[in-house]
Amino acid sequence: TKLAGEAAGATPAMRQYFAAKEQYPDCLVFCRIGDFYELFYEDAILVSRVLQLTLTARDREKKQPMCGVPYHAAEVYLQKLLRLGYKVAMMEQMEDPKLTKAVVRREVTRVLTPGTALDPTLGAEQSNYLASVAVLGSGVGQVCGLALLDLSTGEFRATEFAGGGWAALVDELGRVRPVELLYGTGLLGGVNLAGESETAAGLDGIRTKTAVEEWVFTADYAVPLVRNHFKVHSLDGMGLGGHEAAAVAAGALLHYMRATKQGGLEHVDGLRFYERSTCLELDAVSVRNLELVEPLFSGESVQTTLFYTMDACCTPMGKRLLRASLLRPASGVGEIEARLEAVGEAAGDLRRREELRRSMDGVLDLERLLGRVALDSAGPREVMALARTLDCLPGVVAAVRLFESARWRELGASVDPLEDLHEMIVRTIVEEPPVSLGDGGAIREGVDAELDELRELSRSGRQALAAIEERERERTGIGSLKVRFNNVFGYYLEVTKANAKAVPADYERKQTLVNAERFTTPELKEYETKILNAQERSGEIEKKIFAELRRQLLEAAGRMRETARKIAEIDLLGCFAHLAALRGWVRPQVEESGVLEFVQARHPVVERRMEESGSGRFVPNSVHLDADAGPAVLLITGPNMGGKSTYLRMAALLVVMAQMGSFVPAERMRLGLVDRIYTRIGASDNVARGRSTFMVEMTETAAILNTATNRSLVLLDEMGRGTATYDGLSLAWATVEHLHDRIGARTLFATHYHELTLLADRLARLTNLRVTVKETAGGIVFLHTVEAGPASKSYGIEVARLAGLPSGVIARAREVLKVHERAETQQVREASPAQGAQMQMTMFTPLSQRIVDRLAEADVDGLTPRDALNLLAELQREL
Ligand code: ADP
Repeated sequence: TKLAGEAAGATPAMRQYFAAKEQYPDCLVFCRIGDFYELFYEDAILVSRVLQLTLTARDREKKQPMCGVPYHAAEVYLQKLLRLGYKVAMMEQMEDPKLTKAVVRREVTRVLTPGTALDPTLGAEQSNYLASVAVLGSGVGQVCGLALLDLSTGEFRATEFAGGGWAALVDELGRVRPVELLYGTGLLGGVNLAGESETAAGLDGIRTKTAVEEWVFTADYAVPLVRNHFKVHSLDGMGLGGHEAAAVAAGALLHYMRATKQGGLEHVDGLRFYERSTCLELDAVSVRNLELVEPLFSGESVQTTLFYTMDACCTPMGKRLLRASLLRPASGVGEIEARLEAVGEAAGDLRRREELRRSMDGVLDLERLLGRVALDSAGPREVMALARTLDCLPGVVAAVRLFESARWRELGASVDPLEDLHEMIVRTIVEEPPVSLGDGGAIREGVDAELDELRELSRSGRQALAAIEERERERTGIGSLKVRFNNVFGYYLEVTKANAKAVPADYERKQTLVNAERFTTPELKEYETKILNAQERSGEIEKKIFAELRRQLLEAAGRMRETARKIAEIDLLGCFAHLAALRGWVRPQVEESGVLEFVQARHPVVERRMEESGSGRFVPNSVHLDADAGPAVLLITGPNMGGKSTYLRMAALLVVMAQMGSFVPAERMRLGLVDRIYTRIGASDNVARGRSTFMVEMTETAAILNTATNRSLVLLDEMGRGTATYDGLSLAWATVEHLHDRIGARTLFATHYHELTLLADRLARLTNLRVTVKETAGGIVFLHTVEAGPASKSYGIEVARLAGLPSGVIARAREVLKVHERAETQQVREASPAQGAQMQMTMFTPLSQRIVDRLAEADVDGLTPRDALNLLAELQREL
């Protein structure tokens, strides 16, 4: 290779670099040389471009591109590269350059990757998942295992997808959005993870995909890694018994942590098998469409998300749990009821609720602090911050115990307030510790007798120096004489040039500066040694004590994580109660049935945004659906901008909220539990990836029709828009029939095809709804009320008028519409009633479609007036 060729004639330092590059080919190698980290060749070219650094050459003739960053500022650059998805190998100097004559030995001490490095700018509610995918078996026996680790909190969990559940796996990844994905090189054959295939499209959002040797993904190798890490004989206790693929994925992940030399995994003290079916399932498409946690289009304001609207949590743990619950709402009646009960109690009692929420003031991110302690990136200040957080816990527990409902009682009884750990830290660390342990003075007096003695020694030493200064001033008569210290020369006596002549003979000259002379004396040297030795020794002792404290804290990592989980739940319930009281939300009635009914409901996000911007009031609407008996499909028609999408999304959001255990913005809500929400809404940002809108739409629709059950909630908005009217209408028609006849899922279908409203005559359990508008002299006004019945006619032209289309065009469009309507009525009259379904099919008027097509093809700008008239005449003849 090119690098190998270069290596032949290279300097020893460069040879070390080439060796590292060969060992970590997919990493940028940051090579420590003196006070800089240097990058060479392609790495240098790439990094200088992304980080806008100056590209230089190590050697002019040889043209070795090079760029570097000062080591003390490296952190910022590294974080930026990691956020962009790059991996970095840190090559450090293993010896002190001052102490060695030969070339300094350099080694890669750590590999930083997006999934393994801590990002200090990570938002409290965000997670930083490293994911690992293992595929065992083949054909129908194939099982996909997925393991997820968030190193910042130590959360580690795994799950499995059986029967070739590749699509479900991709879907889960789309929801979890890991920053880095590990997969076996063998997977490349079957499914091209890195490539552009259809299956891989769901993985587009994962910037860093790391291939790991295939042998790592074998049970023989990977499973023992998991057992050893947790020091257990069997994985059954973690719920992993019989889930080999999940265990292998987890083991491969641990292998990767080891291969990239990540130390300090003590806080990763448990692995949990989770079943996806224990929650209301939301596929990645729905999570995006409903804007649960992120705005539909990146760059839009986060205020459009349900997360933003519902986030009244007091702690970072609570925020993370809120986010996780939005993505995985609970599905059991018992669990939901227990939460609703607790929320209701706190919502109804302002004083106790406020007491609870205030008790959590000052609770910092327990999990992340613990993570930093484990990764050894916590200094005395962080440990003290941990103590302050622990100090709040007894207050939280006391506040929780004021409540009586079952869930509160359970929480109150089971939270461990960790008082012993708090005690341990404050007993050891001073109240206002220095930033870095190396600064000294982090450990309290009285912790270690020797440390106290040494500190006394250096204190008295410094006092002695002050005394010497005083004495020497008198002896020499030089008033400006000073005893000073620097790192190179230690302690010295400094005298200005002008006074140098007055210096006594026993002074020994050390250094001459422009304006001053520096001296030492045997007495000064003696104190210097004493003080420096004492400082060095006390530094060592402080380090030792701190390390011991760290070890003890990590021993209690499991307890801290458990407490953090409980605090998160307490915070979330408190947040729900706060919202319910503040915003007048009500308790939903949750049951095992096919009902979905709400009265005078409001869309929480739109309502809040309207309130904040002062743009009117949200118009409440009601829904009545019953998958078992009664209406199963609601077909909503009406003009654009009438409020159809808002109505659909509102229904889904209220279901998500209720199943999370939150109260809902409605007068009343009755919900038979939903197993899964499906959405097919508008154009998605898949279009930006170059897949056709129509293809995306049909793929999503196929997924719905193939997997929805009669316990699902299906939202279809403007289906068929991506293709010619005739196709689109036919597909929409058949889709509604299938949902109605075969699946029986609760379905809300918003459409601009008025023809579909005729379905109500044939489908007993389909109800027509329309968004209402008021026609006034000046045009139409949207009332946003949803009422029974089909929309009477297309208001498209009116909306177009409101949008400012020229009046000539509007007038002409009205004429064309009339002609069109006339043709339709005629056909209805002609078709014999006995023909039933067929009659309705012919109403799609292939005839008018032909005219529409001709019109669409016509190059209006290029037509002469005469051509235009001819075209018009031709079209009229077709009617
Ligand atoms: P459609 O899907 O019919 O085109 P949208 O649901 O997108 O209409 O709503 C259009 C506009 O009307 C949005 O700006 C929305 O905020 C507002 N809107 C919708 N429903 C309501 C309502 N119930 N009350 C007040 N404003 C609403």
